[in-house]
Amino acid sequence: MNVISNMCSGEYEQIAFCHDKNTGLKAIISIHDTTLGPALGGTRIRPYATEEEALIDVMKLSKAMTFKNAVAGLNYGGGKGVIIADPKKDKTDVLMRAYGRFLESLGGRFVTGEDVGTDEFDMLSIRRETSYVIGLPELYGGGGNVSWATSFGIYRGIKGAVKHVFGKDELKGIKIAIQGVGNVGSMLIPYLQEEGVSTIYVTDVDTGRVAGAVKQYGVKAVPMDEIHAQDVDIYAPCALGGSINDKTIPELKCKIIAGGANNQLADEQKHAKILKDKGIAFVVDYVINAGGVTSATSEILGYSRARSEFEVSRIYDRVLRLLSLAEEKNITTMEAAMMMAQERLAEEKKLSGVHCGFRKALCPPPGSKW
Ligand code: NAD
Repeated sequence: MNVISNMCSGEYEQIAFCHDKNTGLKAIISIHDTTLGPALGGTRIRPYATEEEALIDVMKLSKAMTFKNAVAGLNYGGGKGVIIADPKKDKTDVLMRAYGRFLESLGGRFVTGEDVGTDEFDMLSIRRETSYVIGLPELYGGGGNVSWATSFGIYRGIKGAVKHVFGKDELKGIKIAIQGVGNVGSMLIPYLQEEGVSTIYVTDVDTGRVAGAVKQYGVKAVPMDEIHAQDVDIYAPCALGGSINDKTIPELKCKIIAGGANNQLADEQKHAKILKDKGIAFVVDYVINAGGVTSATSEILGYSRARSEFEVSRIYDRVLRLLSLAEEKNITTMEAAMMMAQERLAEEKKLSGVHCGFRKALCPPPGSKW
């Protein structure tokens, strides 16, 4: 890959290649855009087959973070880190600390957190070398597992969607189908039941998890390949990406899709358009599932559960705005989400007219035009 040409065409600011011969660390950090603040994104550890695969992944993910953070109302830009290694075999405290030292060398331009292959204790290893890390265990001043915040955000987003689509302020009598009752899906259930959701269908590849949810909450179990086709108001994908696709869309009976899984549409543009034409409100995944990252970033000011809840609850307003904007402009919700992100970035850029700080006070060098 022609790295710099690709950076120019995708408007990337910086890519850092990191190597430490003693620990064997091989990592790439991609900083896409820092208009809104330091780049923020998780660090994933994967045994990528090639370096190019790792580079493509980190670039793509860091760019997505720019828009995700912008629309989530966070004061962070887009970034991502990848460590080329097998998390099961190669991950050690010193490897993570070596990575932390590279983060420190970036002077705060990139702040990281958990992702695929990393956990809160890896963040603790990184924290030994740098403060530019979030997602620490509760015992160390962090928020710990933030899945509750993701579930709470989805619940708030569902309320926003129900208000927009059905004009109702409450969830009484609403029927919902949840695909996947892992961390996010299972923690969503009590929020919904507290508000009087009448029927909840669930499914999971892990039958133990389904049995657990049925026993604990009295929800109804359905077969995996039938969950999306239930006669419900809302379908909530909370398992893996791509569950909204050519096969499942014709079988949907819901009016709203609102769940925690990332990249729910198998083909973003095509499927967003089909859902729009069918009159199904697709609540864009990165708008509704930002509760976890919102909660984790609150660690920067000193973690507070109450402040996290307050910030995450604002997903209600964002979902209302997303659906209203899509309707008003007659565009898909994917397009509306991108519009909201671009609008926030453009607003921030207006601040480039306000100058402050020492650098601006320095004289131009001798011989310069100015
Ligand atoms: P998890 O692994 O705890 O739960 C996922 C569940 O889905 C598991 O129980 C798994 O068995 C099940 N599953 C997998 N394939 C399935 C299938 N085909 N049909 C039915 N069930 C299936 O993960 P999680 O933390 O609950 O996250 C769920 C989704 O939300 C993921 O896509 C994740 O990327 C996304 N997400 C999570 C968070 C968070 O805070 N945990 C934040 C943002 C986005």
